Amino acid sequence: MSFSTLGLAPSLLNAITEIGYQEPTAIQSAAIPAILRGEDVLGAAQTGSGKTAAFALPLLQSLLDNRDGPRQLHGLVLVPTRELAVQVGESIRKLVSHLPIPVKVAIVFGGVSINPQMMALRGGADIVVATPGRLLDLIDHNALKISRVAMLVLDEADRLLDLGFSEELNRILELLPKQRQNLFFSATFPPAVQKLADAILHQPSRIEV
Ligand code: AMP
Repeated sequence: MSFSTLGLAPSLLNAITEIGYQEPTAIQSAAIPAILRGEDVLGAAQTGSGKTAAFALPLLQSLLDNRDGPRQLHGLVLVPTRELAVQVGESIRKLVSHLPIPVKVAIVFGGVSINPQMMALRGGADIVVATPGRLLDLIDHNALKISRVAMLVLDEADRLLDLGFSEELNRILELLPKQRQNLFFSATFPPAVQKLADAILHQPSRIEV
């Protein structure tokens, strides 16, 4: 299997080559075409499977395809922890650094002062990687709006629920536009996680690796 058969734009294939990925991982081969078709995706995948690029590459392609007019938040990636926010955000920035146009990726998480994050969001962002509580704080401070988000990603959904983010997630879901694409990744699917997936996803493609 080659990246060139997945439907990705030349600028993204070029970024992949420059980064040095030779072939897609199993989740990338399965998820990227489905996401590019506009489908919701339910992915059962562990860390280390390459799931970050599996959602980041089509997210960036969707952003590049819709890049006219003023900058508005296009992709929202929700993660359970600060560590994962940094890891996922930096992975997306690495891809972006090989693209021909600027894409602003903001990384926000709780447990640190909110002011630098508010400053970083001035002028908007294309993609925000966030932990749920801090995202809501920033919305409450009018530092960002999520009403035009085109793509929502829940990463490690089981850990989001384990860490008690259920109420925050429900509030965030109410602020998002109804019309959007949803990508939901989790390592495990106990009933509460399945229920959340059912509430968020619309006729998802199921991908297990
Ligand atoms: P993730 O599961 O997204 O945390 O990715 C795990 C690691 O695999 C990261 O260090 C990625 O840079 C790397 N990776 C992702 N996709 C590929 C690929 N297609 N080929 C080689 N390495 C990859």
